[in-house]
Parts: sequence; C-alpha cells; structure tokens
Amino acid sequence: MERIGCLWTGGLDSTYTIAYFSKFEVEIQPYYLLDKNRNSQKYELKAIEEISDIFRNDKHVKAKIMPLITKNVDNIAPDDEIKKSFKKLRKQMPLGSQYEWLARFAKEIGSDSLYVSIEKSDHSIGRKCVYDNGDVIHYFENEYEYFSIDKDKSTQDCINVFGRFRFPMSWDRTKKEEVQELVDMGYEDVLKKVWFCFDPVVRNGNVEKCGICNPCRTYIKAGFRNLFSEEALQRYEKIEKTPHWVHQLRDYKNLALIKLGLK
Ligand SMILES: [Zn+2]
Repeated sequence: MERIGCLWTGGLDSTYTIAYFSKFEVEIQPYYLLDKNRNSQKYELKAIEEISDIFRNDKHVKAKIMPLITKNVDNIAPDDEIKKSFKKLRKQMPLGSQYEWLARFAKEIGSDSLYVSIEKSDHSIGRKCVYDNGDVIHYFENEYEYFSIDKDKSTQDCINVFGRFRFPMSWDRTKKEEVQELVDMGYEDVLKKVWFCFDPVVRNGNVEKCGICNPCRTYIKAGFRNLFSEEALQRYEKIEKTPHWVHQLRDYKNLALIKLGLK
C-alpha cells in the first residue's frame, strides 16, 4: 500500500486533502507540528481526532488512516541551506515561517513528497511565492493527482523551500470549491468539525471563532457567515473598518479588541 505523508492542521484545506486521498487504497500518514505560539492548537488537535473518527467509521473510505504523528517545531533539525533560501524569499513577500520549518521537517523525515495543502487563492502568499520564483507540474499518477515544483523552471531558493512538498488538489480549488466537494462527498459532518480560527475567543465558557484573524476573514469573505456567531461577525465588520496598520501588528487582535471596547 502506498504511503501518503500529509500535513494535517484540522483546517479546511488539509482536511479536504485527507478526504480526497481517503477514496484511494493508500495508507495516509498525517503529521501535525506543535507550535507553542499557535493559540488554536488544542482545537485543531480535537478537530483532527473527531474527523479521523468520522473517516475511520465511513465504509466508503478505502484508505487506511494512520494515527497522527506530532512533532514539536522547536525540535526539528536546523538546516542552513533552507534557512538562507527562506530568508531570501521572505525579503520578497511576508512568507509564513511555517514554510521554513515544514521544509526542514520534510528533509528530516527523508521525504520529498510531503503533502502540504495550499488553496487556490489570491491571498495565499505561499502560492504567490511559488509562481513568482518558479512553476509547478501537474502530475496524474496512480489515479490521483498532485502538483509539485518544476525544478527546471524554479529558482534554487524556491526548490530549497518548496521542493520537498507535493501540493494536493487544494492547489487547484478555492475554499468554496473544497466545501462544495466535501458536501458532495457527504461530509457535511466533517465540515462542521473543521477548525480554522487562529485566535479563538472564549466567552462564558464557550469557544468561538474570532472573526478577525486571517483565516476567519477569508472564510467570511468567501461567504461562510453561517459558521460564525453574531458577535464574531460584528467583530469582523468592525475590524474591516480599522486602519490597515492595525492588521500588521502581531498582537493586533488584542489591540483591536481593546480599541473597539470589546475587551
Ligand atoms: Zn479567527
């Protein structure tokens, strides 16, 4: 059985990828990288656990979904080559630091085919970075499809950072299309469990999506208002009216909440 190594965050794109591969007779090995700076970690791990159960109990699933492997980001082996290339790419655009440690992680586990789910979106900086510094090839192997870096058409920095990844079909799907396909596959229950908010808000003992972090705003802009509380939508409307510099700050959420009198 072929082994598919997949990064799984419990969010929509990577969950869509797990659902996509679940139709094939493969062994899916999900990975989750633990990052102490990620406020949403425990909600993501809970989502992964619950969604894994849904897939494992679904008789239409042909793939074998292996237990989740986690690794602390701080414990991934350093790599100067990847670090230097990442720094150069980051001078061009605000590329997320996860690409640097994901590249090191793929190298550490000896993988040149770690599936990293990036959606088709103008807001995806990872995707823009790939196209600004190279190109991808669309492969059709063993029935399933994926994209990977075209090493003949990409810079060495792009190859060093993105070259050990494969981009699953989310590369060619907008969030809206991913949601529609999951609905078509009968996975509305999965959709409800997907977690995507970076900065969940705890109010009266209930955890809710904040409505103002990047993924939340992407979801709301894409039309998924029904996944948010009324309060989260109000926060969204207010943050959209705040000056752009507030969004650039690392702690913008707290600042913004204080400023808006919500905290
Ligand atoms: Zn959020």
